[in-house]
Amino acid sequence: MSEGISKRSKFTGDDAFIERARYRVCTACRSPQLTPQGMDPEEECQQCGATFQKVNATRAFIRPHGFVTSVADGQGRDPGATRIRPTVSDEALLLTEAPRSKYIATDLPGILTFHAPGSNRPEHELGRIITVNRGRHGGGFAWCNSCEHAVPTHGHGPDLAWQQQAFLQAHLNPRSGQPCRFDPSKPSWPIDLAHVFETDVRGLLFEGLPRTPSGDAIVASSSLDRTLQEALRLGAADLLETDPRDLRALVQKLDGLLVVVIYDSVSGGAGYATRLTNEDGYLARDLLLAARKILNCPNPDCITSCTRCLNDYSNQRNWPDFDRRPAQAWIETILIDAGVKIDPQWDL
Ligand SMILES: [Zn+2]
Ligand SMILES: [Zn+2]
Ligand SMILES: [Zn+2]
Repeated sequence: MSEGISKRSKFTGDDAFIERARYRVCTACRSPQLTPQGMDPEEECQQCGATFQKVNATRAFIRPHGFVTSVADGQGRDPGATRIRPTVSDEALLLTEAPRSKYIATDLPGILTFHAPGSNRPEHELGRIITVNRGRHGGGFAWCNSCEHAVPTHGHGPDLAWQQQAFLQAHLNPRSGQPCRFDPSKPSWPIDLAHVFETDVRGLLFEGLPRTPSGDAIVASSSLDRTLQEALRLGAADLLETDPRDLRALVQKLDGLLVVVIYDSVSGGAGYATRLTNEDGYLARDLLLAARKILNCPNPDCITSCTRCLNDYSNQRNWPDFDRRPAQAWIETILIDAGVKIDPQWDL
């Protein structure tokens, strides 16, 4: 199917300003750095202070108004009216800067929290999530200089993470269905597609290093991080008596310590993430107990994860990463250290 990225405002139909900027993600903390076009990126991460490596090249992105479905496809959709659909290649990042100094104590020693609301506050205080679509080949999208035609293109460099110029092939203008009279000798610089939205955001910083209740170190790994991320999201949904799809989560690192960020799916926020750690019945200990309940799988054959504990439709791509038992041991350590009465179930 041929598709394009709209260059027109859906409100006025005119060529409209489309925010174009560059970004890169801090490898130390996963905070995205945005730089307006024509400016040099800061050398240091504003959230954690780490210096960006040269290999971490910035990528161009736009926030498109919408997509254009080719008139040749005959689907009868209103050009430009199609909403941007998140794809599995989208990565969600916390755009709001949450440095360590913004984390405050919770009812649980060892768990600190950060909160940003999704509405009714000055711009700079809002919780903001950015998702970035790099296209199915990782190099972003080559976008015609003359019309709105766009195709996924290949990246290069380490992990194919660098964008490179691409030459477009003969194509139809998706809006008119007529052959585009572009100059095929002129390259196109690819763009990624970004979507930014404001929502209620709740960060949870794990102050200690992972260990079992008997004091043995648990190996820190992305598997442990992802497992805790999803156990906390599913546990929070249980606690709040809502559908797990109403909440999303991502991980960051601050000074090498794990941060799990839970946020409301709906733009503007629904108040779920705001309630966590902040209201009676939703305190940090309640949240960790709910996550522990998720990890304590009733299926006797469950080793790492299964559909009765962590695996749900929305986290399918993380299924191979999940390992519930080290996560359960660490959560029990934090609860026991805080004096919460539990009957330990951990087993490593
Ligand atoms: Zn950083
Ligand atoms: Zn074109
Ligand atoms: Zn299970």
